[in-house]
Amino acid sequence: MADPAWRAVRGRVLTFLAPPLGAGDGASYRYLADGLVLARDGRIAAVGEASPLLATLPADTPVDHYPDGLVLPGFIDPHIHFPQTQVIASYGAQLLEWLERYTFVEEQRFADAAHAAEQAVFFFDELARNGTTTALAFCSVHPVSADAFFTEAERRGMGMLGGKVMMDRNAPPALTDTAQSGYDETKALIERWHGRGRQRVAITPRFAVTSTPEQLAAAGALKREHPDLLVQTHLSENHAEIETVRRLFPEATGYLDVYDRFGLTGERSLFGHCIHLTEAERRRMAETGSVAVFCPTSNLFIGSGLFEMGQAREAPAMRVAVATDVGGGTSFSMLRTLAEGYKVQQLLGRNWSALEAFHLATAGNAAALGLAGEIGTLEPGAFADLVVLDARATPVMANRMARIDGDLEEELFVLMTLGDDRAVRATYAAGRLIHAAS
Ligand SMILES: [Zn+2]
Repeated sequence: MADPAWRAVRGRVLTFLAPPLGAGDGASYRYLADGLVLARDGRIAAVGEASPLLATLPADTPVDHYPDGLVLPGFIDPHIHFPQTQVIASYGAQLLEWLERYTFVEEQRFADAAHAAEQAVFFFDELARNGTTTALAFCSVHPVSADAFFTEAERRGMGMLGGKVMMDRNAPPALTDTAQSGYDETKALIERWHGRGRQRVAITPRFAVTSTPEQLAAAGALKREHPDLLVQTHLSENHAEIETVRRLFPEATGYLDVYDRFGLTGERSLFGHCIHLTEAERRRMAETGSVAVFCPTSNLFIGSGLFEMGQAREAPAMRVAVATDVGGGTSFSMLRTLAEGYKVQQLLGRNWSALEAFHLATAGNAAALGLAGEIGTLEPGAFADLVVLDARATPVMANRMARIDGDLEEELFVLMTLGDDRAVRATYAAGRLIHAAS
């Protein structure tokens, strides 16, 4: 190993212990004004007050010190499209037209292994620059795109989850597989990548519009054969999409029921968007333990609608995650994502506290991926995936912070409202520095 087995990061340390019940819930987190995170062989060995912990370390232990930096678990992005990096900010279309006009054109380029490899470098650089250390990604229909994705993640020591999309209708021929080939190719990816180091494969039917019943049945078979795998797809993003699903699956009682009847709901299933669920669907999401993934920048940009966080939490509560959904989403930054998430709740007459937002982007998203304790926390035993944030990164932020007298929640709110990649001082994956602000 080129890097030393030991590494220490010193700064203002923050990690969540439980989902915050709202603003001011001081019992939900642990904060150390001068803390130290000690990593050994990629995992967190100890966390505590800096002085006593430093006294126990060998003198030559490398210590990265960020006196004003806020050290948190790295951000987790549980819904992002790897092949859409170059269609981000494409003008003037809602979901189905946006897919046809931009995305389905762009994704065809990922049949080329060299292009996929080149874009993977950009993609992971961008995640690291934004403090994101784990993502659950949709690759293109081509297995080579997933190979490029995992190869680059492995090279950087980042723990990633993803799968090739399965789509066998309503897409250009160059972007379709078949029920059988989608199954076979996913199976081969599982053999190549699932559980290799930190990499994990997810079963990835794009959405009900682009899969035949035979393909959804094949996805269900994969889930039965590999119960530890995640399933990721889309649900109830846009009215025209919901109407199309109703036409394609007249026997189903609704959009969620399409996935349900093929065995694709459950605690390891993540559904992007879930904006226009009926009351019965919300209940069914809660009953099955399925996760609704809130993608605010995407929902606003594509004009899909407003996801009600407050309603999702009402009994029976749905499990919820928050994600960028690049390239429908307009930023790789989880800070920008939280800012837009807050504004969506404001439009609905609700609030979303900074504590809840930061918890969701770290420990909450980890739980949604079934990785609580592994990532999204600074507790010993977890991977040493860290982000160091600077709430004074821009003139506006520094000027605002001058009026805040050491209140952590206000600082977090400034970070999520005004921050972006400029507020990320450093990012670590498995104890290794993978990004440092210049
Ligand atoms: Zn998506």
